[in-house]
Amino acid sequence: MPNTLTGHRAAFHAAAESAREERGTWRRLAVYPTVRGSRTTVGRINHGKADFRPEGSWEAYSAACEDGQAVWARYIGGGPRPAPLPDTMAVRIRYDGEDRGYQGAGVLTVTVSTRCPRCGGPRGWDKVRPYRFAHDGEHITVDAWKNPCGHEDIYAAVLAESRQERRDTPVELIQAAYAAREIGVHASQAANLLSRNGYDDAAALVRGEVKNRGGNCTTLQAVQFLQELGGGC
Ligand SMILES: [Zn+2]
Repeated sequence: MPNTLTGHRAAFHAAAESAREERGTWRRLAVYPTVRGSRTTVGRINHGKADFRPEGSWEAYSAACEDGQAVWARYIGGGPRPAPLPDTMAVRIRYDGEDRGYQGAGVLTVTVSTRCPRCGGPRGWDKVRPYRFAHDGEHITVDAWKNPCGHEDIYAAVLAESRQERRDTPVELIQAAYAAREIGVHASQAANLLSRNGYDDAAALVRGEVKNRGGNCTTLQAVQFLQELGGGC
């Protein structure tokens, strides 16, 4: 056991040294079996202990990864503070619907963590680019990004992950419920969902739009309608 511990400490120290040499670059310093272990280390780094002196010259966070709880850190001392890492990112993905014949298919904006689910490292949140393609004669624009860690995100996994995220706006609520098949293609179900969650104004707007369209309004059309009204209400 003591040998293992010493090995871990040496690897941790070496990782910290190499992170210090690459200012602003996030490095994975360690993986812990528990959240508690990783949080202790994050606290030590953010408070400038040992390898991480002086206080304020390092940033660290802990994130779930495939083999436990990873601690990622970057050295930010000796220069201007780099842009902070946001917690979440909103991306447009292609959604094929759940039925044959692509009924209800379209582009969904979903919110996911900026942390790669495999290694916990930052995703390419600051390198999101529009990706256009044609499908059945229709032009579609979704988002594409590359993660610095090299792990690739696929839309199906991003969609599944988005279902776990918290919703703040009526538009996010509808999109998440639709992706999770909690509501169906028709916008009246979106309106009912909004009412159930206390968004009475947005629910009334959607019902009005359903009426305007003579009863033919899909959930994703309602989403678009709310987005055009003003950034998700
Ligand atoms: Zn990764």
